[in-house]
Amino acid sequence: MSDSGNEVLVIGAGMAGLTAARALAEAGRSVLVIEAQGRIGGRILTRRVGDDAIELGAEFIHGRPPELWALIAEAGLETYERGGTQFCFDDDGLRDCSGEMEDSFAPLEALETFAGPDMSFAAYLDREQVPEERRGRVVGYVEGFNAADHREISALSLGVQQKAEEESEGDRVWRLRGGYDQLTEYLAQRIRERGGRIALETPVQEIRWKAGRVEAIHAGGNFVASQAVVTLPLGVLQGGRVKFSPQPETVFAAMDGLRMGQARRFTLVFRERFWAKLPQPAGLSGMGFFFSFAAMPPVWWTPHPETAATITGWVGGPRSAALDGMGAEELGSEACSTLARIFGIKTEAVAAMLLECCTHDWRHDPFALGAYSYVAAGGLETSHRMQEPVERTLFFAGEHTDVTGHWGTVHAAMRSGLRAAAQVLEGDSGGLAMVK
Ligand SMILES: Cc1cc2nc3c(=O)[nH]c(=O)nc-3n(C[C@H](O)[C@H](O)[C@H](O)COP(=O)(O)OP(=O)(O)OC[C@H]3O[C@@H](n4cnc5c(N)ncnc54)[C@H](O)[C@@H]3O)c2cc1C
Repeated sequence: MSDSGNEVLVIGAGMAGLTAARALAEAGRSVLVIEAQGRIGGRILTRRVGDDAIELGAEFIHGRPPELWALIAEAGLETYERGGTQFCFDDDGLRDCSGEMEDSFAPLEALETFAGPDMSFAAYLDREQVPEERRGRVVGYVEGFNAADHREISALSLGVQQKAEEESEGDRVWRLRGGYDQLTEYLAQRIRERGGRIALETPVQEIRWKAGRVEAIHAGGNFVASQAVVTLPLGVLQGGRVKFSPQPETVFAAMDGLRMGQARRFTLVFRERFWAKLPQPAGLSGMGFFFSFAAMPPVWWTPHPETAATITGWVGGPRSAALDGMGAEELGSEACSTLARIFGIKTEAVAAMLLECCTHDWRHDPFALGAYSYVAAGGLETSHRMQEPVERTLFFAGEHTDVTGHWGTVHAAMRSGLRAAAQVLEGDSGGLAMVK
């Protein structure tokens, strides 16, 4: 690529980068996507085990975000809505607890009308004098869903998120039959059809830039263009893994308002749905989510109503550190003993059913360095500042630059890619490149 004025580099081939690249390629721009890994998708990572598509990164479609659903329809993909009965495991054993959690979420719902000043969710619970014994479930939910530390996450951002979810039926959850990576593959195909290129296994080490010229330096040389859309994950940016010369101060100063959240997930692939055959408690064959508050991990789910013989375990936020450094085998064997306790059967019986434990270590993945972002107390304006173009030359995108209250989701990444592409293209006509 040369700096002829029509060319754009897109750094990162996750949902944000691929979305931006497609929009730019379709608008007639010459696009080169530069991706560090030997695959596209970033934090969308699907593994196939037999007939099952196992998600190691994003799994759910949260609610009805229009751009994501439009893409799913365009790509002709099938979805199904997740459902099932909710179970809880505590001192009383395993029992149907559907509807029981709602009361615990009252402090979170009240945040919709919270006007600040901003504080952490922990400080907010103190301010509202929520008794210690009523905090466990709501804290567990906030940390699990946001991969966040409740002592750091912004109360205002949680209120914004609550409202945003309500507006898009965020309490409903779908799954892509056959795997999330079908979406990123579809986008890559569209990009290539429009003459766009995707360079894999090309980790960018440095971005050297001045107004109207960007150079992306990698081990094998450099690519030059007039503009770049930078979709590096927040963890990679904050970890200084890619050098910016010069450092765009507005963006880097703003970044302190966000945190890269941590989470650990694994999916156990079993020979059969052994839990569905257990006599007690009733209804296990229709089990969706189940919670083991005191055990590790605290959140589990089946793919119900799909009948794949899989169970996924999840822990987000500071508690995920307990599983740090554990490989698939160790996680699988620990999970078998926890599930044995939950279901009241022998560990050996569960272990004998296990075919494989699938996991990915996002915390130590050098091209992610975490699961997804959340807003720290006082940082609500950060994403707005991060999405401002830098001298019409650098355009930052990625889930962490979302300004619609959906941080940490696939549709946030997609939205940010569309916004960045529009900013690049608006620059073409000389207009002010701001889209909110
Ligand atoms: C375990 C887990 C579960 C999740 N569950 C859900 C869910 O159920 N629903 C949902 O909506 N969202 C979920 N998410 C979040 C969702 O996956 C992300 O928000 C989204 O995929 C992020 O897309 P992105 O394009 O912003 O970043 P990424 O997908 O991370 O893309 C960034 C790209 O940049 C590349 N890169 C990094 N460094 C360099 C470099 N030096 N040079 C070149 N390229 C580089 C990376 O390899 C990557 O491909 C989950 C995430 C995780 C980790």
